[in-house]
Amino acid sequence: MPGTVNGTEAWRAHVGFEPLATYADAHDAQAVLWLDIDNTLYSQVDTRIPELMADRIRDYFRGLGLDDHDAEQLHTHYYKEYGLAIRGLVKHHTIDPMDYDEKCDGSLPLERVLHPDPALRALLERIDRRRVRVYALTNAYKTHARRVLSLLQLDTVVQGIVYCDYNIDELYATRSPSSCKPEPAFYTAAQAAVHAAPDAHVYFVDDSMQNIVAARALGWQSCGTCHADPAVYFDELHPTDAPRTLDNGVVSVSSLQQLPRVWPGVFAP
Ligand SMILES: [Mg+2]
Repeated sequence: MPGTVNGTEAWRAHVGFEPLATYADAHDAQAVLWLDIDNTLYSQVDTRIPELMADRIRDYFRGLGLDDHDAEQLHTHYYKEYGLAIRGLVKHHTIDPMDYDEKCDGSLPLERVLHPDPALRALLERIDRRRVRVYALTNAYKTHARRVLSLLQLDTVVQGIVYCDYNIDELYATRSPSSCKPEPAFYTAAQAAVHAAPDAHVYFVDDSMQNIVAARALGWQSCGTCHADPAVYFDELHPTDAPRTLDNGVVSVSSLQQLPRVWPGVFAP
């Protein structure tokens, strides 16, 4: 990731960044830990947030005059074609991304379904912040990301948010856009946004296998002296007692409480 373009930090073309209350950049950190937010920091089974989100996105398509069948088809098509429904909506329907964010993520009843998990907070508090910085890496917009972290009472243990910025041109680029996971420039821009040192270890946990595979391809799997794999797949749908290695080589955990067994150097005992 080049440093600056015309005096502007180049990473801003690819990611949005929001420092939180305990923000410190990563220039002097030995490691950076990236946490996906949605369906990773809370249970998708208990909250049913993925279904609630899909309902709202389909309602949004219906609001554009599509019937139920077409709404469903187009939502799936845009998701497959562009990775994010919003890309197709802006491209083909010239919608206002902020209106979309307000009506979809913004209208989720998160206050009712999300509750703090003291054990998760305690786990993240065991990370030595002198050595390791902890940030969120999300494909949501910042409003939703902040809201979720606040409701989970994790907005003081997560130090900053790299998010998908619905307002940057790059998100809607016709050819190879690079502004959300799993697009490689999104990850490298995230590292640049927090000023991560080139030799810092990078850890990452996400409930999307394609996001993990992309991170590994970028080298977010070379962990210096540790033996474990730093890009870990979170899969609550297949509960296991311990982390396991899948056929593709990716390490999977079914509870974030298993992370210290994969990354013993990150968490204090
Ligand atoms: Mg997720």
